[in-house]
Order: sequence, then C-alpha cells, then structure tokens
Amino acid sequence: MSELENILHQVTKPARYTGGEWNSIVKDWDKTGIKIALAYPDLYELGMSNLALPILYDLLNRQPDVLAERVYAPWVDMAAVMQTKGIPLFSLESRHPLKDFDIIGFSLGYELTYTNVLNMLHLSPIPVLASERNDSHPIVIAGGTCVLNPEPMADFIDLFVIGDAEEVLLELLDSFRDWKQPGKKAPRKRLFRQAATIPGIYVPSLYTVEYQADGLFKSITPTVAQASPTVQRRIVTKLPPPVTRPVVPYVEVVHDRGAIEVQRGCSRGCRFCQAGTIYRPVRERPQEEVIQAVGELITNCGYDEVSLVSLNTSDYPHIDKLVANLSHRYRHHNLALSLPSLRIDSFSVKLMDSLSSRRKTGLTFAPEAGSERLRCLINKSILEEQLLETAAAAFDRGWTSLKLYFMLGLPTETTDDIENIIQLINKVSALGRKVKGKRPHIRVSLATFVPKPHTPFQWVAQEDEPQLNSKHELLKQGLRGKGIGLSWTDPKVSQLEAVLSRGDRRLGKVIYRAWQPGSTFDAWSEHFNYENWLHAFEEAGLESGFYNRRERPLDEPLPWSHIDVGITTAFLKREYQRALAGRETPDCRHEACNVCGLERWQPQCRQKYQKLSQSKR
Ligand code: SF4
Repeated sequence: MSELENILHQVTKPARYTGGEWNSIVKDWDKTGIKIALAYPDLYELGMSNLALPILYDLLNRQPDVLAERVYAPWVDMAAVMQTKGIPLFSLESRHPLKDFDIIGFSLGYELTYTNVLNMLHLSPIPVLASERNDSHPIVIAGGTCVLNPEPMADFIDLFVIGDAEEVLLELLDSFRDWKQPGKKAPRKRLFRQAATIPGIYVPSLYTVEYQADGLFKSITPTVAQASPTVQRRIVTKLPPPVTRPVVPYVEVVHDRGAIEVQRGCSRGCRFCQAGTIYRPVRERPQEEVIQAVGELITNCGYDEVSLVSLNTSDYPHIDKLVANLSHRYRHHNLALSLPSLRIDSFSVKLMDSLSSRRKTGLTFAPEAGSERLRCLINKSILEEQLLETAAAAFDRGWTSLKLYFMLGLPTETTDDIENIIQLINKVSALGRKVKGKRPHIRVSLATFVPKPHTPFQWVAQEDEPQLNSKHELLKQGLRGKGIGLSWTDPKVSQLEAVLSRGDRRLGKVIYRAWQPGSTFDAWSEHFNYENWLHAFEEAGLESGFYNRRERPLDEPLPWSHIDVGITTAFLKREYQRALAGRETPDCRHEACNVCGLERWQPQCRQKYQKLSQSKR
C-alpha cells in the first residue's frame, strides 16, 4: 500500500486526491520532455468545474513532448496530514511531487485564493518567493482574470500570461524548448528575458516599481530591453475547438455536467463588470460546432446534462434555434440543457420553458440595482415594467422559484435605492402569490460592489463595512417574514477582494504575512480570518483603506496601467463620466461601435469602427 493510500482514510472526500478519473491523460513520465502541472488554488470540486483548465489540459497534452497533469489545493485536513507525514503536494495523474515538474501554471480567478497559491508552493516544496527560487526549481506561471492586475502576486510568480492563453502558451513552450535544449543549460533568467519578448507575457522581475513620497504608486518601468513598457492582452480571434473529452470526476463537483463555451466576451457594457471589458470582443462558436460538440460530450463522457456557457447566453445569435436543434438532435439521450446568465426578458423565460422539465428547478435573474436610475448608471437599463413582466411570465408558466441578484454599494447608491430593491422584491413576490395554489419562493442574493481594475468604475471608492451593514439591515427589516430568502456576502470579504484586486506590488508582503500564520482558503467563511489580515497589513506598514476606500483622481497613475487590455483609459473615463451623467451606452453588437479601443487591434471591430467613421462623414 502506498503512503498516500495509508493516509486517505484520515481525510474527507479522499477521491479529491486519487486521480484516475475517466478521460484523465497519463503520459509516460520518463519519455516526455516537458512536464507541466496545471494548478487550481481551491478545492477539487471547484477546480473541476472551471472551464479554462480543461481547455489548457487538452491543448497541452496534444503536444507530443508535453505532459500536463492537474493539482488542486488540498483541503486543510489533507494539508495537515501531508505536512505531518512529509508527503509533498503531488499531481493527480502520475502523483509526482510538484517540485519535479518544469512548469507550474496557476489559474487565478478569485483574489481570495492567493494564500492558497503560497500554500501549494510551500507544500510542494518549492520556495514561495520567486526571488528565492533557482535553476533547480520549476518555473511558476499564472493566468486568469485576476492577473489583469498582476502586481499583488508579483513576488510569487515568475511570469504571468495576460489574456487568452491558447496561443501564447504554445509560444511560451517554444521558448522553453529552446532554453531547455540538452547541453544548453542556460540560467532561468535567460528564459525570462526571452519570454518577455512574447506579447502577452509579463515577467515582473524585469520591472522596477517606484512610489511617490506620499505613498502613491508612481510608475513601473522595464529594467531590460526585452521587457516592454506595456504588456498587451492576448486575444484569440477564433474560439479554440471545444473540449469534448474532459476529465469526468468520480465525486460530485459544483457544476456536475458537460460544458460547451458557446461564445466568449460580452458587448453589453455593464460598467461594474470586469469580465465585460477584459473578455471583449465577442467571439461566437458556430451553431454546427456546438451541436457536434454536445454529441461528442454525450458519447465521450456519458453526460445527459450540458451547459451552454458564456457571459450572456441569451445574446448568442439564434439561441432559441440552437436549443431547439439540440433538443431534437439528442432527443433519445434525455438531454437536459442548462443556460446560465440569461437576460431579464420574457424571451429568456420562453427559452427556459422550451428546455427539458428537468431544468425547471429555478430561474435566476440579475437586476443588480433596485432603481431605474441606478440601473441606468451601471448601464444595465432594465425598466421595472420589463422586470415585472418577466417575473409574471415565469410564474404563469409554472415556475415557483426565482433567484434575484443585487449588488450593494454601487456608486451614488442611496437609501432610496435600497428601498427600491425592497419594493421591487415585494412586487415580484406579490405576482407569485397571485397564481392560485402556489407559494412563490424568492431568493435574493446580495453581492457587494467591488470597483475592479480596467472598468469605468476603477477610480471609485468602495463603501465601508458599517455602510454596507446598515444596508443589509435595511433589507433584512424590509423583507422580514415574507417567505423571501436573503443571503449576502460578508462585507469584510468584499473589502479584502477590493484591496487585493486594486493593489500594487507592496501587497505581496501582506499576502505573505497573512499566509505565514495560517491564512488559507480565505474564500471559505469557516477559514476566513480577517483579524489575521489586519495584522498582516499592520506588519507590512500598509493601510487596507488606502487601496479600496479612497476615490482615486482620474489622473492618478494606477498600478495596473502597464497591462493593456485593449480598452483605452479614454474610453473608461468617458464611460465613468457618462455614468455620473446618467447616460447609457448602447450595446455595440447591435448598435454602432463605441470606440472602446479594440478597433485598433481587432479586425471585426475595425470594420465596425470604419462604418461609424463613414456614417459621420
Ligand atoms: S471596438 Fe467598437 S465594436 Fe469593438 S468591442 Fe469596442 S465598442 Fe464594440
């Protein structure tokens, strides 16, 4: 019996660590030149529901000289046993320790997983600080939405992949192959300099950061000729082939179904939404490709439920036809389709109604704000009438359970806006009660506004904890005893998320000091230790409020300004000012180009922009 099998009975859900799942790929370790560990800094059940990792796993394993294996953050019980027994963190496929890989690639999608990155490196064991690693250690890379402001993690990561990884990763591999040639033994610094010449690769150690005397961020400057002053986000013009042979978990995971990415990007332009800017422009997968991919998923994985994934699935052209075609084509497979992220309109209700009855568990809509004024400000203009019509259509068609998402602390939000949320929910609930013999079940989820980098609200201050708590209180009072379920994010968690997403390189010290005495799994309420973080800020001589509670002047240098996502600062400023003036910006998919900056890079945008210029002449 192996050492691993000896300890599995001591931990919860041992299947998280055994590997061997259906469709997992095990290549010959000794005969494969480049070994990559794809690391997800959270639980297996969450990582196995992530859409990006299967794409990279598939892409990398298609390279004959590359093996890509998976590793997830071991839950606290497993991490403790591993440390006691001296078992290093290992990959699921071949169970090799992470320190034996050439490259460790972390996926960073949520700032509250940062301490898990440190912990995974520590358990591997690999020095946590990039400056303490040498040529005997793996290269540690990271990608994902968080790295659009890579600075807070710059102390721990050797190089960041900015934007769509599908093409740039292969280019990075070419550099790696060249560097690793037998007998060539160049120091890793040479690889870093070469990698820095690849568009979309950011090597933080090749830059120097300066701060002003008052502590404000001043500049970030390359120290070598190979590093560019700005790093452009990589954008694939065509979506990569869908993954139709993903690894099928043995234990229940968060999204326990097949998934096909039907489109990437969203053109709606909600001003609080970072995904809306950093995934632009919209790229659609042709219907035929989706239909074929669903068939392959059924055959290769045995799934009878498939999710059509995108940031806004109801915007996919002719989605109703796609759903009808899929339902018809796979009618003998009892296929259930799932459509996340739907628009608030009766079309969406009809669309959901056309799905198999197995999907009729609940409908989810995100009005985000209670008043039309505030919805206009965030550029998510939905009339109350339209919202109520949608709810009425849902109840009429037999839905009894509705979930509504709101965001608290949006710029200019007042108590009136909170009262509007209460009134709106009450009206929806009253509509449900009108249906004879049914009791509506309304669940309300309250998120906190986080002013994210690269959005029109990146300069805005976040509300503090007492302000948010009093809004929660107001909502609790206003909705008490009406059969309405209310859930909310802990304001402390949102504060930390904002700080880490808007931070500069100095935050590395804070993350390190929070991790050292034990902060891990910060995204899990039972493990979130805010006091520990406050202490870490104190020790690092920094103030958290400096990062999230301060409105930044529009001309203040921002720590993420060297990351060029393609959307210009001029556009973001324009959008911010339009927001404050209560002016909407139309969806560029259906209306004219809004000149967000991508017309400089993207052929489809250039065409739209040219049309706009011609119409103005
Ligand atoms: S450049 Fe124009 S068409 Fe392209 S995403 Fe930006 S606003 Fe839309």
